[in-house]
Amino acid sequence: RQPFPRPTRRRIISVANQKGGVGKTTTTVNLAAALASNGVRVLVIDLDPQGNASTALGIDHHSGVPSIYDVLLGNRPLDEVVVASGEAPALYCAPATIDLAGAEIELVSLVARENRLRRAIASMQREVDYVFIDCPPSLGLLTVNALVAARELLIPIQCEYYALEGVGMLLRNVELVQAHLNQELRLSTILLTMYDSRTRLADQVVQEVKEHFGERVLGTTIPRNVRLAEAPSYGQSALTYDPTSRGSLSYLAAARELAERGWEPNGAAR
Ligand code: ADP
Ligand code: MG
Repeated sequence: RQPFPRPTRRRIISVANQKGGVGKTTTTVNLAAALASNGVRVLVIDLDPQGNASTALGIDHHSGVPSIYDVLLGNRPLDEVVVASGEAPALYCAPATIDLAGAEIELVSLVARENRLRRAIASMQREVDYVFIDCPPSLGLLTVNALVAARELLIPIQCEYYALEGVGMLLRNVELVQAHLNQELRLSTILLTMYDSRTRLADQVVQEVKEHFGERVLGTTIPRNVRLAEAPSYGQSALTYDPTSRGSLSYLAAARELAERGWEPNGAAR
């Protein structure tokens, strides 16, 4: 098996969708684990006060642990809060604690409030090939920080009725960020999640999303798979918990696609 190619320039990918439960965290954690177990160095930044990505990577994130909150609000260097995950040799995580819940409001009065994460990543000493930012289910200042820090946006879309609902609002926010705060941001990747082959509706959603987003949609679709839902309660990615499950194999395939096609698929400029 070929190792995954390393990008020539560090890829910073925000995983966002203001709808909750669409698979943002599951996608972040399992793509990161898949890349990191194939020779690529990866940092996951948990930007959701719930800290689900931290949990899933087996990282302690009780209140008071050095976390991304200290980076955004306390000017603590990112390097000081990053910890190694036991998942793979080069998988790291900047955990989120519940303190982050107050950050949306605390950030408002700060100078350069939209740029704090970007600056923290830019001054990070640790060398990684990928940074994934797991966004909260909202379009507030935390998500704006993620969009300003990233070069790429990955939107997980659940194969369900009203799948595209809300994505329009996210994309309008992306356009605002592109116009005023981060010209480099691109919607590079759409990943269809929780596909259930037994329903005809799921196929219609896949069809519709592919018509709408074209090349940006990864060829790999993530099936509904109970292993993906079970793994976090063991503090593991699905790739560690059950590496041969359909869920793990699909994230492995999606990660390979992401790595092999680089940061901008054909026709993805917008
Ligand atoms: P988000 O971060 O967008 O809120 P999550 O990744 O936390 O979404 O997923 C929501 C719930 O669905 C979680 O309980 C997760 O374990 C479960 N889940 C996510 N993807 C799948 C899947 N492909 N198959 C089965 N369960 C999934
Ligand atoms: Mg989440």
